[in-house]
Amino acid sequence: MSGRPLRVVIVGAGVGGLTLALLLRRRGVTAEVLEQAPELREVGAAVALAANGTRVLREVGLVDALERVSFEPTELIHRRGVDGHRITAHPVAGWYRDRFGAPFLGVHRVHLQLLLGEAWGPEHLHLGWRVTDIEQRDGAVRVRGADGREVDADVVVGADGVHSVVRSWVTGGDSAAYSGTSGFRGLVPVGQLTALPDPGAIQFWVGPGAHLLHYPIGDGSVINFLAVVEGPARWTSPVWMTDAEPGEHLAPFAGWHPAVTQMIDAAPQGPRWGLFSRPPLHRWNRGAVILLGDAAHAMLPHHGQGANQTIEDAAVLAAELAECGAEDVPGALDRYTARRRGRTRQVQLASWATSPALHLPDDSPALRQRDSRLARLPEDLAWMHGHDALATEGQPTAVTTARG
Ligand SMILES: Cc1cc2nc3c(=O)[nH]c(=O)nc-3n(C[C@H](O)[C@H](O)[C@H](O)COP(=O)(O)OP(=O)(O)OC[C@H]3O[C@@H](n4cnc5c(N)ncnc54)[C@H](O)[C@@H]3O)c2cc1C
Repeated sequence: MSGRPLRVVIVGAGVGGLTLALLLRRRGVTAEVLEQAPELREVGAAVALAANGTRVLREVGLVDALERVSFEPTELIHRRGVDGHRITAHPVAGWYRDRFGAPFLGVHRVHLQLLLGEAWGPEHLHLGWRVTDIEQRDGAVRVRGADGREVDADVVVGADGVHSVVRSWVTGGDSAAYSGTSGFRGLVPVGQLTALPDPGAIQFWVGPGAHLLHYPIGDGSVINFLAVVEGPARWTSPVWMTDAEPGEHLAPFAGWHPAVTQMIDAAPQGPRWGLFSRPPLHRWNRGAVILLGDAAHAMLPHHGQGANQTIEDAAVLAAELAECGAEDVPGALDRYTARRRGRTRQVQLASWATSPALHLPDDSPALRQRDSRLARLPEDLAWMHGHDALATEGQPTAVTTARG
């Protein structure tokens, strides 16, 4: 490691950017974080943090505070959507923490964002700083903002999410893959859900052409849901979110269990979210500009792993950068990519394979096999949830069962 401190600029103060900044600071490296938003207030509903993510957040001292604003689900239950029959149920609270060494928590996104932001503080956080351009110069990278401001760095991290401008600069521009499915999200006070059994559980209601996922957040008095439906066949909008006709969100669930229709109906109808995945990249960097999180590997939400994989990225990149000086950046970025590329690809694939399995018709011959896989789920997904990104050496990421 050379004498001069490494100059790190992180583009994006989302889950990945702030986690990386905090982990670097613990290792003696101060980053400057550039965020386009005028304040840290993540829109959207909630996020489920699994042990592979909370293990890293514990390292930055955030898990106790996080637990105070999160809910640990009682069970993971899969049900038949039409009649509510319990296909499988596995304990979560207690059991999961013992098995994987860290908790599974449902949290409102605003709470997560604020906790990360407060932990980082204002000194090295630059709000209202929208990056528009990057230029590779001799021995440095220059980052330019929409208002003409410029900053130089030894390494620039693109943690700027699914519509990353840094990714466009690294790849020259690429298209996202549309899954042929879309989703509607909502938050509902649990008191309004009179038909809902097991409100403390994380539950999937599955059926032909659709599924509903929900889990409690905060103190357990609010349920966060994501209703996933087949179609539209083609996504024509340039943005990933479009207005929906009244009732479009409920129509695919006609005739389903009242707990399902009551929940979807109880939230104000929101937009339709197209569900997209970013194609995997062989190279995650161009020179000293490197990608992290959704910018590198945005994935479908069916394993609830987007934020968790982003947090894992942050742990590995922080470890590699903290070990290097300005002249060692290329090696550090290569090692980071090598440790993260295969694993994130496997999680992307598993997430892609999940919704067809949850949308099988009730008379499908594949149903029995699907249900016996659901019965083995906690052990089948141990490779995903049990991973320790803080371990110095890369761990084996061989997937025996990359599926949902
Ligand atoms: C419906 C749905 C449900 C999900 N549920 C889960 C879940 O349960 N569990 C889970 O782990 N994940 C979930 N995810 C995925 C998760 O939200 C993302 O994977 C995660 O937020 C990615 O973090 P990030 O830091 O890469 O990007 P983000 O958190 O999106 O942060 C990017 C930041 O960069 C900023 N930015 C963007 N462009 C610029 C620019 N040009 N200049 C400066 N700043 C910029 C943005 O304002 C933002 O603050 C879900 C996603 C969806 C769509």
